[in-house]
Amino acid sequence: MIRTINTKEITKNVKEMCIEANHYLSPDMDAAMKKATAEEKSELGKKILNQLQENLKIAGEEMIPICQDTGMAVFFVEIGQDVHFEGDLIEDAINEGVRQGYVEGYLRKSVVADPILRENTKDNTPAVIHYSIVAGDKVKITFAPKGFGSENMSRVFMLKPADGIEGVKNAILTAVKDAGPNACPPMVVGVGVGGTFEKCALLAKKALTRPVGEHSSIEYVADMEKEMLEKINQLGIGPGGLGGTTTALAVNINTYPTHIAGLPVAINICCHVNRHIVRVV
Ligand code: SF4
Repeated sequence: MIRTINTKEITKNVKEMCIEANHYLSPDMDAAMKKATAEEKSELGKKILNQLQENLKIAGEEMIPICQDTGMAVFFVEIGQDVHFEGDLIEDAINEGVRQGYVEGYLRKSVVADPILRENTKDNTPAVIHYSIVAGDKVKITFAPKGFGSENMSRVFMLKPADGIEGVKNAILTAVKDAGPNACPPMVVGVGVGGTFEKCALLAKKALTRPVGEHSSIEYVADMEKEMLEKINQLGIGPGGLGGTTTALAVNINTYPTHIAGLPVAINICCHVNRHIVRVV
C-alpha cells in the first residue's frame, strides 16, 4: 500500500538532525572516545583526549557546536518504493531543513555557491544528497555533516587487480600517513573497495556512517578492518597529531563488485567528531 508523507515532515526532521548532530557526539563515538582515553599510552595523548572530551561536555551543556566547522551537509536518503511525497520536491524539502537548521541553530555556514567564484550561500545549502530506492513505505535519512580538514585528506586510488589485498592495505596506510595531524585525529577511516571510480568514493563515505565498533559481515573484510586499525595506531600520529597510540578509532570498509580490469579504492577520512545521525520517517 502506498503511504503518503508530507515533505514538511522531512524538513522538520532534517532541521532537528542538523542541530542535534552538531551539538552532541553520537553514542558510538562517545563510547570509542572514552575507551581511547582510558587506553592511550602517551601522557600528552591522554591529556589531549581528555581536553577533547571536556570540549564535548561543554558543547552539550551550553549548546555550542562540537566543532567550529559544522560541515557540508551530506545525506543518504533511502526511500521506500511505497512512499508517495506530497508537498515540495524532496530535494527542496531537505535543503529547506538544512537552511532552517543552520540558520536558526547558529551553525557555521561553510558552503560557497561556485567552487571558483566562492561566494558563501549564507545558509549552508545546497546539501550533498545521495538517494536510493529500497523496499517498504518508510524514509531513512542519514545525516553526516562533513568538515573539510579531514575531507581534504581523502584519496581515491585506481589500483590494478594484481595489487590485491596488500595494495588495498598500502593505500589505506598511505592516505592516513599523508593525512597526519591535518585530519584532526583520532580519525575514523571510511574505505570503499570495488565498484567504479565514483562508487568506491560513495562506499567510503557511507562507511563513515556505520557505528564505530561494528565490523563488516564479510570475514576477510572484518579482519582487514581490525588489522588496519592496529597498524594505523602503530604509526604514532596520535591525538591531535602530537604523538600517541590513538591515531584512529575505527576503520570501516565497504566492498562492492567491480570490473575484471580494476580495483578502485577510496579512503574517506573523518575526524574525532565523525558526526552521523539516523532517523526513520
Ligand atoms: S576535521 Fe573535524 S574536528 Fe577538525 S576542524 Fe574539521 S570538523 Fe572540526
